[in-house]
Amino acid sequence: MSSSLDDKKEALYRYWVDAGIIKDSKLLYAFQKVKRESFVLNVDIDRAYGDYPLGIPHFQTISQPTTVMLMTQALKMEAGMEVLEVGTGSGYQTAILSEMVGEKGWIVSLEYYKTLSDFACKNLQKTDCRNVKIIHGDGGNGWEEEAPYDRIIVTCACPSVPPPLLEQLKPDGIMVLPVTTHFSDKMQVIKKSASGISSKSIGSFSFVPLRGIYGNF
Ligand code: SAH
Repeated sequence: MSSSLDDKKEALYRYWVDAGIIKDSKLLYAFQKVKRESFVLNVDIDRAYGDYPLGIPHFQTISQPTTVMLMTQALKMEAGMEVLEVGTGSGYQTAILSEMVGEKGWIVSLEYYKTLSDFACKNLQKTDCRNVKIIHGDGGNGWEEEAPYDRIIVTCACPSVPPPLLEQLKPDGIMVLPVTTHFSDKMQVIKKSASGISSKSIGSFSFVPLRGIYGNF
């Protein structure tokens, strides 16, 4: 990595730590370890540590780094967990999840567009993630074959919570997903427990829309 990329990465890290935005030390380590520059288009490598989304094929985006960190932190992940991701995109969030669960855990990640599932596989080959399965398909249906999951993360805006995802979440599981309202996408943290389902919002964001059966298009 060039020293200028190093400096930009360090500046982002410092911002999160100094502002108290990211407190999970394992997550901060995952950010240090995973090279975001491996997941952006070649023309954007110099901008890999800017705190904004960048374009990837099919008019989709690799999410803003702070958004990736906040969503992952809200998942309260532990080593060995089994995780479903909807919206692989570049594969960057997938690589961060892979670091968080370690070699005893695994990630299944679904991507709607074949161009992007191929793009993510190519990007992930540059890392040493061996606990990741990328699937081309409609993630609104979840992935029954490996269900239930300890954690579910959706990285595209949903009109409402897709019912199969709620069904495929383990008891005591956590799901993080943006749900579209009139003005913005509200990031919902959903917890499933013996006493029922609870949901709270952790802020407003802006995401590309969920496609497919539970999407708008
Ligand atoms: N976490 C990704 C974000 C990609 S943007 C990253 O940081 O790179 C959201 C992605 O969700 C897009 O790639 C889009 O194609 C995908 N997507 C949209 N609807 C989907 C669906 N129904 N199933 C799976 N993926 C979907």
